[in-house]
Amino acid sequence: MAQHDQLHRYLFENFAVRGELVTVSETWKQIMENHDYPTPVKTILGELLVATSLLTATLKFDGDITVQLQGDGPMSLAVINGNNNQQMRGVARFKGEILADADLKALVGNGYLVITITPAEGERYQGVVGLEGDTLAACLEDYFLRSEQLPTRLFIRTGDVDGQPAAGGMLLQVLPAQDAQADDFNHLAALTETIKAEELLTLPANEVLWRLYHEEEVTLYDPQNVEFKCTCSRERCADALRTLPDEEVNSIIAEEGEIDMNCDYCGNHYVFNAMDIAEIRNNASPADPQVH
Ligand SMILES: [Zn+2]
Repeated sequence: MAQHDQLHRYLFENFAVRGELVTVSETWKQIMENHDYPTPVKTILGELLVATSLLTATLKFDGDITVQLQGDGPMSLAVINGNNNQQMRGVARFKGEILADADLKALVGNGYLVITITPAEGERYQGVVGLEGDTLAACLEDYFLRSEQLPTRLFIRTGDVDGQPAAGGMLLQVLPAQDAQADDFNHLAALTETIKAEELLTLPANEVLWRLYHEEEVTLYDPQNVEFKCTCSRERCADALRTLPDEEVNSIIAEEGEIDMNCDYCGNHYVFNAMDIAEIRNNASPADPQVH
């Protein structure tokens, strides 16, 4: 039985190609908690989660990646943010009726895929591609084609395991500064393409690799855990409050008695009363978090 919420890296010994394999269930479940998403929105969030996990695992530095779909369709936004420690969070916004069989185009309408890479130190990079592919994986491959030199393929599957939603994905990428033959890469991609959701979501990683590439020599490295974690904090909320004009903050306090800031990602509330605001303005450290 596969253990979910783990990311595996692997390497082909005879080709300049590396791979990644990830499966998620608990992480995905926690992202969907406290939200009432229609099934197609849940599925897209699962696919985005898998994609973000695979993409952050390609980072050569500390930092995070945000993969975001936005458009004029009923789902105006779906976003997953993850960092190099495989800590993931995400949210979607939708309105109106969403048909049970709505695909990517029907959900997003005319839209874009926006990928933002934010290193812990250094400059932020943003890439934007129109949604020309039929699937998220195809749109991401389009992004890699346009923004990077390294040929990259993604394979994303969603399904159920024992009645629980589970999602998984694989990534193949040519190693930087190496001369992988296009034929070899296409051959490995064609093998990977054959992975079925059931196999990816229920078999241990080494068995998946064996089924796909039994004629190749593959090294599988120790997995990294994937988890849900929101990076919101009372301090970050206080920082945001500091950027607002005093009059605006004062008028909310006068009307509501407090400012209640709600994190879209995890649902946490951060409440600031007049005294907290005074402390923030004095640059004193804010009181203990009020989380519920
Ligand atoms: Zn949060």
